[in-house]
Amino acid sequence: MADESPSCCVCGGDHLTRLGRPRATPVARSVTPGWEQMQVVRCGSCGAYAVSPAPRWDEAALQRLYGEEYFAPVPPIWQRQRERLDPDRRLDEIARALPATASRTSLLDVGCGPGYVLARGLARGWAVTGVEPSRYWAEHTAARLGVTVHAASVETCELPAASFDVVFADSVIEHLVAPIALLGLARRVLREHGLLYLVTPNADGLASRFRHLAYRALGSGRAGFVEPLSPPYHLVGLTPGSLEKLAGRAGLRVVRSRVVGGREELLKQGRWLSAGGLKDAALIPSLLLGEALGRGTTIEALLARE
Ligand SMILES: [Zn+2]
Repeated sequence: MADESPSCCVCGGDHLTRLGRPRATPVARSVTPGWEQMQVVRCGSCGAYAVSPAPRWDEAALQRLYGEEYFAPVPPIWQRQRERLDPDRRLDEIARALPATASRTSLLDVGCGPGYVLARGLARGWAVTGVEPSRYWAEHTAARLGVTVHAASVETCELPAASFDVVFADSVIEHLVAPIALLGLARRVLREHGLLYLVTPNADGLASRFRHLAYRALGSGRAGFVEPLSPPYHLVGLTPGSLEKLAGRAGLRVVRSRVVGGREELLKQGRWLSAGGLKDAALIPSLLLGEALGRGTTIEALLARE
């Protein structure tokens, strides 16, 4: 089932340009009725990308998409980075931005997966809670760390209002049909002084643009899929500017936003570079140059309530 959605899910604008069809991966075909009608569109008002009409998945399909295999093992060098370096750096930044209070910092990690951030928060003595739509990962992480992980989606999780100092969402918003739902959740559960830390791919990154051009030149059969999206998982592609518009609609403001990434992406992609051959190797200059030009792969943003 799919809804026709003529307006941008980020800014509400109605100037959408069709860019082409996303590649139908086997898992997407098997769980998404109406996949053939879907297009990747770009909003002329805010520059965000989205899949339209947006897919609709039932609970069984979601569990299939985000099961045990979703967080597949990665090479040890990247695994260490995932578990410690990125979370520690990001939690340091949050700690510096929070006002000094006597009470223990409380953090909600939305889409906590295997719990890397929850573990680092615990190591700081913070009170941590997870939300994770995958039942497998919610149970696995709760048992491993001894913390509460709500097995729920952004749209369905029920948490008390004004109950957290920090909402952390790394690589979550691009998976949502309605990205504003994540910001709405954060606005509701954050205390007055609270902060949302958001990490998402930069749809305006040089590597994304390169892939998009490759798609247009070679056709979807050869270039793979329309970047910057990789459905069925990535449904929305944000840019720094479109994130600001989305924040405003949700009653949040961007306190700090920056574009990072490039070199780390090379480490992460090392395993598929060997399989992808020349096509993927051609991405290396765009990854390195993108970071140097401020058009890297990833947006890291800190948001506060208006
Ligand atoms: Zn828009």
